[in-house]
Amino acid sequence: MQGLMQDFPLTIPHLFSRAETLFGDKQIVTALPTGVTRTTYAEWAERTRRLGGVLDTLGISADGRVATFSWNTQRHLELYFAAPCTGRVLHTLNLRLFPEQVTYIVNHAEDEVIFVDKTVAGLLWPLLSTFTTVRHIVVVNDGGPFDTSEVPEGMEVHDYEALLAEASPVQWPAIDDENRAASMCYTSGTTGNPKGVVYSHRSTVLHTMAAMFADSVGICEADRILPVVPMFHANAWGLAHAGVASGADLIMPGPDLSPPSLAKLIEEERVTVAAGVPTIWMGVLPELAGRDTSALRIIPCGGSAVPKALSEGFREQVGLPILQAWGMTETSPVATVSKIKSTLADLPEEKLADLRATQGLPVLGVEIRVVDQATGEPVKRDGIDRGELQAAGPWIARTYYNDERSDESFTADGWLRTGDVATIDAEGYVRLVDRTKDVVKSGGEWISSVELENEIMAHPKVAEAAVIGVAHPKWQERPLACVVVKPGEELTRDEVLEFLEPRVAKWWLPDDVVFIDEVPKTSVGKFSKKDLRDRFKDHVLPTA
Ligand code: ADP
Repeated sequence: MQGLMQDFPLTIPHLFSRAETLFGDKQIVTALPTGVTRTTYAEWAERTRRLGGVLDTLGISADGRVATFSWNTQRHLELYFAAPCTGRVLHTLNLRLFPEQVTYIVNHAEDEVIFVDKTVAGLLWPLLSTFTTVRHIVVVNDGGPFDTSEVPEGMEVHDYEALLAEASPVQWPAIDDENRAASMCYTSGTTGNPKGVVYSHRSTVLHTMAAMFADSVGICEADRILPVVPMFHANAWGLAHAGVASGADLIMPGPDLSPPSLAKLIEEERVTVAAGVPTIWMGVLPELAGRDTSALRIIPCGGSAVPKALSEGFREQVGLPILQAWGMTETSPVATVSKIKSTLADLPEEKLADLRATQGLPVLGVEIRVVDQATGEPVKRDGIDRGELQAAGPWIARTYYNDERSDESFTADGWLRTGDVATIDAEGYVRLVDRTKDVVKSGGEWISSVELENEIMAHPKVAEAAVIGVAHPKWQERPLACVVVKPGEELTRDEVLEFLEPRVAKWWLPDDVVFIDEVPKTSVGKFSKKDLRDRFKDHVLPTA
């Protein structure tokens, strides 16, 4: 017997029309170098429909790739919706990638047009001649002069506002197939060329709903959301879509992601949800001292492990611990969220802090399993046995876009192999031990670099710490701690090791500690272990 409900396609115009018809007077605020701008959803919706007309006028194909090279702004949000609502495919370019990676992904995705913020146009301009399919560059004027000459033949440069002024608003065409591509995003490519993930209308709508579940991030109409996480990094974790669908106000930080500027926005704009990677919050916490943060209700954070000390620092100073989430570009990205079950809420504060330092429980809609890499069997749910974290669900990628490397990333039964090593406990909480490539392999045993970093960063004089494996003649690899000391403080190798001794197994103790000025960061603000490994590949560990 069949169910008798409507087969209603889940499409992005449905999200759009909620903001347009129900929440027309709610706001999008953008902090630009030229000042703060405020727009209502009604104005934004009208401009977005006109932008749809612009895409038609430019002759972008029916499913043409519309690339953005842009910070988080209201105009980027116009593109976020105009491209998929007209059936085209939004392609967010990570503006911090290496130039050759930008060239690779623009050509691989076959982008037809790139919308570029004037403030970052200087990064794109030298690459124009390397693009094989781009016919239009649209410059979004967000302040400052820029010379738009020297454009290769066959490519036209336009001004965003001029195009918009000439265009008429369009009705969205019907999108009958909810599995049609809506947007794409490439992984940040820590090894090899970036890989393309293609989201569908259906996956985006379902992921948007998931961002609104009370037991995940719980975005709702009353929120004022500050997505510090870039819109070019894994869909700004779904916050742009969820903001529009719920009618929440969006506070777009623009290009200035400096801690003082973010702290100011949080206070002045009465932000309720502020989301970013751990390195952002490490910088912002001291800047929040003495500011009114009473509107904040949730600080979602992920992308790399949230140090317990950081979350506790927020709890003590701001009165709100960080809400850790885990995900990947391939998982849209929200997959697990570390909310504390009501049955565990009475645990001592120390245990709750430990629980918040886990990656949490899968959100409704996502299935996860932790698999022993040798046997292929699920590991025991004891919080100890480790294995590869794998995920399945309607907003998890099933393959990469035109990429031969896909096979190695998906299992025979279609699950995503995340490349993360994890444990899972009896309550279902997932704890990420490490990325497979970052785990320190010492004499056939694994040492979690993440856990060591967590402990080192609990030292009051430590600003940042990253642990890498370096070659060892007997043990294959041993941990090296790379430590950044807080300004004005002094710390020695022995002090670090003494601090760690009671906190980790003896054989986990790093063989050496080096002091560095800063931990190198990836394009999305994560610790770049690859850079550290390159830098310290010849580091000679002291012999015991
Ligand atoms: P990249 O692989 O280039 O970093 P992604 O942003 O897609 O691009 O990164 C996904 C990876 O980030 C995950 O596989 C995991 O290793 C790491 N990650 C994400 N969230 C967390 C978290 N809360 N704790 C630890 N690691 C995380």
